Amino acid sequence: MTRVLKSSADSFKRAVDILRAGGLVALPTETVYGLAADAANDDAVKKIYAAKGRPTHNPLIAHIFDPKDAEKFVDISPLAQQLMDVFWPGPLTLVLPKTSEDISLAAGAGLDTLAVRCPKAKWAKAFLKLGFRGPIVMPSANRSGHVSPTTAQHVLDDLGKTIDMIIDDGECPNGIESTVLKIEGDKAILLRPGAIPTEDFIPYISDLRLAKTTAQPSAPGMLQSHYSPNASVRLNALEKRPYESYLAFGPTDVKSDFNLSLKGDLAEAARNLYSALRALDTVDTIAIAPIPRTGLGAAINDRLKRAAADKGT
Ligand code: AMP
Ligand code: MG
Repeated sequence: MTRVLKSSADSFKRAVDILRAGGLVALPTETVYGLAADAANDDAVKKIYAAKGRPTHNPLIAHIFDPKDAEKFVDISPLAQQLMDVFWPGPLTLVLPKTSEDISLAAGAGLDTLAVRCPKAKWAKAFLKLGFRGPIVMPSANRSGHVSPTTAQHVLDDLGKTIDMIIDDGECPNGIESTVLKIEGDKAILLRPGAIPTEDFIPYISDLRLAKTTAQPSAPGMLQSHYSPNASVRLNALEKRPYESYLAFGPTDVKSDFNLSLKGDLAEAARNLYSALRALDTVDTIAIAPIPRTGLGAAINDRLKRAAADKGT
């Protein structure tokens, strides 16, 4: 039975005990809820893949609690260091050359790189105080391919019977996953748009290149169908058709079932996106209004495109 405990010093201590014993705990982060396991423990890492039904070719992000710990696991170029200094702790994941054998090979999909992030979360500081430095691996705490969870209830709905504990700290403030950059020396490739808009990197990265979406397993994390509700998704919809729910953005005359942000605010829309997709997932088709592509709109449109993609199964 999965226990749901409110965020507190006591629940953080229990979480550390479970992680040390090789169990799985869902933790709230500034992006979405994550499913954590001790990154050094092969069996615990394999349990994550089993609980999520995640393909083993899709690698996991290693999460550290102190930015200084990154140097123990990856090779840090001056550009990578600068990005860590500016954006950590925060919703930025950096894919870098792996230098450590302390991370379970089960987490790495056979790659010679490691994705690292230092999240901004109350429990991270508490874990350090308890003498637990991690790293933990922590994908989003949803069934593989489904919509990411932004509340403890979403985690319970997806993974309820299979994990040991969920720490409940209400709704995640960003509501959309971290931005993932692959760093090769002084070059950066955007693997996944996310909670930090690409515009924010302009002062540090002169030519941020875009990775191409692919269905090939050799390019992890860029699977075409992902973040999917059960319903079909119709994008850039300007009207609501029969048997559809309508997800609006900004002021509109269309009779809407939910509005991601009445005032047209992209941060509010990102925060509401996954809750809305889950709540409206009772119909044949969810029709979704056009969303601007600037700022956080890039990440929102990326997720919507994948939610709408043919699952091919
Ligand atoms: P999630 O599973 O929701 O935490 O998302 C993590 C994302 O990071 C996935 O899209 C992974 O495929 C991607 N990722 C993790 N490690 C690597 C890596 N070494 N190289 C490229 N992408 C990675
Ligand atoms: Mg995920």
